[in-house]
Amino acid sequence: NNCLSRNYKSLASHPPTIANLYSEWITLQLSLRTSRERHNLLSGRLRSASPLLDTDTPAADPAESRAAIIAEARALKDQIAEVEVKEKQLQDEMKQLALALPNTTHPSTPSKEPRLLHYINPHLSPAHLGNDPADAKTHTQIGQELELLDFSSASTVSGWGWYYLLNDAVLLEQALIQYALQEARKAGFTLVAPPSMVYSHMASACGFRPRDQNDEQQIYAIEKKEGKAGHVLAGTAEIPLAGMLADTTVLEEQLPRKVVGVSRCYRAEAGARGVESKGLYRVHEFTKVELFAWAPPPAEGETSNPVAEKIFDDILSLQERILSGLGLHCRVLEMPATDLGASAHRKIDIEAYIPSRHSTSDGPWGEVSSLSNCTDYQARRLATKVKRTKGVEKGSATGFAWTLNGTALAVPRVLVALLENGYSKGRDGVGRVRVPEVLQKWVGREWIEGAQ
Ligand code: AMP
Repeated sequence: NNCLSRNYKSLASHPPTIANLYSEWITLQLSLRTSRERHNLLSGRLRSASPLLDTDTPAADPAESRAAIIAEARALKDQIAEVEVKEKQLQDEMKQLALALPNTTHPSTPSKEPRLLHYINPHLSPAHLGNDPADAKTHTQIGQELELLDFSSASTVSGWGWYYLLNDAVLLEQALIQYALQEARKAGFTLVAPPSMVYSHMASACGFRPRDQNDEQQIYAIEKKEGKAGHVLAGTAEIPLAGMLADTTVLEEQLPRKVVGVSRCYRAEAGARGVESKGLYRVHEFTKVELFAWAPPPAEGETSNPVAEKIFDDILSLQERILSGLGLHCRVLEMPATDLGASAHRKIDIEAYIPSRHSTSDGPWGEVSSLSNCTDYQARRLATKVKRTKGVEKGSATGFAWTLNGTALAVPRVLVALLENGYSKGRDGVGRVRVPEVLQKWVGREWIEGAQ
């Protein structure tokens, strides 16, 4: 049911298949145990001084009896080895099927439609300002007019979905990164610049698979060299950040731990089509500042995790502060089960008011930020263990960390929102874009008025 409600129809057969494999595995386990016990018994008899004394049916000739035991032990050994291979195959098969399953879903998650939680900067809504989104210029028009964006050279050099930032857009990008990093640091996140290439098993462990449920390619794979583990280009810093504690056991008191990573993100976006695919809205490479946290597991016997929930709320407040500080009008949505990635137990998206999207199914809104609580889904797959030090005998039990990730700032769509909402004509009738106050110290000016 969880697979179906989350739109993973192709995986719906996994749980019953796993159950069948499991009962097959249990049967093998039982037969293995019986065979191993018998083999131990026979080995013991062979080792003992007088094997004949305790044989079931002692042969008349002691040598003959010993030979019979040796023959049976050898046959058992071969049989055990054969069953062990089969057992390993079953285990691998179960593991592969189980790893592909999505996380459980939070009870407050709506089933199909997003639930509106609230607005950010409601006083800047178009209704309030009396603006019609259809009258607004698109960011591609503004980008061309003010010489900020070049898609034409990019299409020659790299193809559809690539771009050049020019002039003040280059500084705007750097300013947005600085701004988000500073805000995250103020909120207690440790700064990280992670690698962009990761092992493909790291991406899978975090819930990212080369192809999505519609079999569209989502991840760029690097050509695999003979005998080497395969690499992929990370679609988000979430993967290398989560990987920082892979195969690690941390003490409960060392958590929570919060990091913020800035990285280039690479997305194949093979299935993306339509109006979204024009301009900066959906591109193959972009810079994103990503928030990531590890929380301790719930207390023994508990399922709810107040520490993780508090971090979730704190990250959301930080995301809202960042977007609010940029003067963007946004809406905050509790996302439905159908929209949750494999690893997310709960997800909240923030969408900014983007006039050029008025003709899309989302109305004039575009997702700029996302926040997920992944419970222990990623940590189990990455082997990020936590040694409990509270409420149990010190160090006597381990659990898996809970992980949370959220966008601090994804540059392209915020640029889209800033250009489209910040554009106006000066007194001289020339178009210009206002630089949000919080960015002015890095851009070095209040207005962007074309190439200078
Ligand atoms: P995600 O990591 O998929 O949750 O995305 C986080 C944020 O990255 C989104 O809210 C967008 O702002 C941005 N983003 C995701 N994919 C793209 C893309 N292909 N092009 C531009 N921005 C993107």
